[in-house]
Amino acid sequence: MKSKPTTERTFEGLPVGAGIAIGIVHRHDSRAVVQVREHKIPVTKVRSEQHRVLEAAHEATNRIEVLQTQAKRMSGAAGEELGYILEAYQQMLSGSRLVRGVQKRIAEERINAEAAVMKEIGLMAEAFAAMEDQYLAARMADIREIGRRLVESLGGKDTPTGLDNLPANAVIVADELSPADTALLDPSKVAGLVTMLGGVESHTAIVARSLGLPAVVAARDILDDIESGAVIIVDGATGFVVIDPTPATLAKYRRKRAGFAKSQQSLKKLKTIAAVTRDGFRVHLHANIEHPSDVDGALAAGAEGVGLFRSEFMFMNRPDMPSEEEQFEELSKTVKKMGGRCVTIRTLDVGADKLGDGLGMKPGPNPALGLRAIRFALSRPKIMLVQLSAILRASAFGPVRILLPMVCTVEEVRQVRRMLTRVAAQLKRRGVKVADPIPPLGVMIEIPGAALAADALAAEADFFAIGTNDLTQYTLAIDCTDEAVAYLYNPLHPAVLRLIQFSAEAALAARIPVSVCGEMAGDERMTPILLGFGITELSMASTALPRVKKRILDLTLSAISGRVRRITSESDPGRVKSIVEDLNKLQETAR
Ligand code: PEP
Ligand code: MG
Repeated sequence: MKSKPTTERTFEGLPVGAGIAIGIVHRHDSRAVVQVREHKIPVTKVRSEQHRVLEAAHEATNRIEVLQTQAKRMSGAAGEELGYILEAYQQMLSGSRLVRGVQKRIAEERINAEAAVMKEIGLMAEAFAAMEDQYLAARMADIREIGRRLVESLGGKDTPTGLDNLPANAVIVADELSPADTALLDPSKVAGLVTMLGGVESHTAIVARSLGLPAVVAARDILDDIESGAVIIVDGATGFVVIDPTPATLAKYRRKRAGFAKSQQSLKKLKTIAAVTRDGFRVHLHANIEHPSDVDGALAAGAEGVGLFRSEFMFMNRPDMPSEEEQFEELSKTVKKMGGRCVTIRTLDVGADKLGDGLGMKPGPNPALGLRAIRFALSRPKIMLVQLSAILRASAFGPVRILLPMVCTVEEVRQVRRMLTRVAAQLKRRGVKVADPIPPLGVMIEIPGAALAADALAAEADFFAIGTNDLTQYTLAIDCTDEAVAYLYNPLHPAVLRLIQFSAEAALAARIPVSVCGEMAGDERMTPILLGFGITELSMASTALPRVKKRILDLTLSAISGRVRRITSESDPGRVKSIVEDLNKLQETAR
């Protein structure tokens, strides 16, 4: 067979995990189907063939147990998710309908074990696919994965796409990685991830960030031009992927990798240092978390509190609603783990791209503009009351703030405040301990109308958190799930900046705290401009925190604040971008 040319090729995708990986390609094409040959067996072989299935299930279970031990060593949401999936695999394998179905098929159809497994898997996968429930449809991938593992354990055809037998220093190049796929990978052997599909919020991106792996997603067509065993470079900061690099390219990226490792080391040393600019302005850096297990990462990065706790995780991937008790458990666990640092709990923010299976939400004609977030919660007061009660009970264990998503009018805030007062009174009457005074109630500024009415909202709210992700998409009328308009997404658009500035000024005038908790807060290039607007609280992914702190420590705010204020009078986004670049350069050279 003619081998492919080994000239250097470069692909570009979206960078989703910082750092540089230099490793060996491991192709993982989930589109490739496991091929097994079916043949008839004599009746005398039925028992031994059924026995083979039991043995194979046992072996596959043992291998999953090894992976479970590895999962426990991983920190954060990815480790926890991995644990759940592996447990589900164990259940599917232990005396389950699958194994029984396969055995029955062997006896009735008199076929070999491998073929019986694939037939049974096909049948189950079809049944799951027919269910319109997103969560159950996703389980289809898990069932296929189990089938693949069973066939592998049967010693049939090797599974060419298996991820549990990786060579050291592997860079997985895949069409897409499902939770089932990532559950099977051994993080100690993976150097980086590249996928053809997916976006910055895809499962791959989340896993890469929480494992601290360099990763690039949306690297189109890369699988067509790549073979396992090739040398690959993944630049998780720029989105470039280089295959079969020349010695000169390799040397360049080795230097870059060494530089990155060095800067990571020096950033770690910043953990206990307060974020203060050169001219003495104190900034508070908080973490955005999505699960109680993310607290470890937040504390390791030196977060002073949780500026945004997205509570949606409790409502996802389940067919029913979480009870007040369950919510209280998760929230109080988080508050306790934060050890006296404030936790800002955002009430349920579902709708549009975030769906909760058990909520019975009916997508309206335009979900992004429909009954979502606070609107949905107020339309189902029971949901809100239960959540407020759980939050209030958790507030007995440490400082808590309550944050409302997608607020549009002052009436929404008043309505929740009335509910909050009522629930607190009921709890107190029952002798249940809650914080006294009850936690502050804040609003997210993420609708342009809310930003423009920020002065009115500031009179009702105890604090503001500016959600620049949604604020940008709604201001510029971009559906962020639509790739065709992705190029227009720009938090540096003058309109977005003016809204941030206006909201910050309204909060400062009303003397209420204001933070930014969208992705912009975690981009150190934006730090000078946000501080220049008078914002002294930023909340971001824990992994971004040391870099932002470093930028703050290098900053002389008084030297740039005049230029930052003038930035909002610019009308050209390109000009704004070059001013921001200048501001950053100015600070770099001032060091
Ligand atoms: C935002 O919109 O900026 C935000 C922080 O909320 P989320 O990303 O959870 O929608
Ligand atoms: Mg939002």
